[in-house]
Amino acid sequence: MVAKTKGGADWVQEYVVSLNKETCIACGRCYKSCPKEVMTLTEEEDDEGEEHKFMILVKEAECIGCKVCSKVCSKGCFTHAA
Ligand code: SF4
Ligand code: SF4
Repeated sequence: MVAKTKGGADWVQEYVVSLNKETCIACGRCYKSCPKEVMTLTEEEDDEGEEHKFMILVKEAECIGCKVCSKVCSKGCFTHAA
C-alpha cells in the first residue's frame, strides 16, 4: 500500500510479519515505541526450568507499517513486508 507524505511524496508502509523470539532480549523498546500496541511481553520455561522472557506479536492486524519497532530493536528481531 502506498500513502503520501505531507510533502506529497510516495510512502510505502512495511507491515510487521514476524518477530524472532530467539534473538529477543526482552528490552521492551519496541513495546514502548509501537503506536498501535502490536506486541506484548511473555515468558516460557525452558528445558532446565529457567524462565525466558521475549516479545510476541498479538495484534498484527493493527500494524500501520511504520517500522519504528525495527528502528529501535538492537537485535534485528523484526521482519516486514510491504
Ligand atoms: S511497524 Fe509500527 S505499527 Fe507495526 S508493529 Fe512496528 S512499530 Fe508497531
Ligand atoms: S526491541 Fe527487539 S530485543 Fe527489545 S523487546 Fe523488542 S523485539 Fe525484543
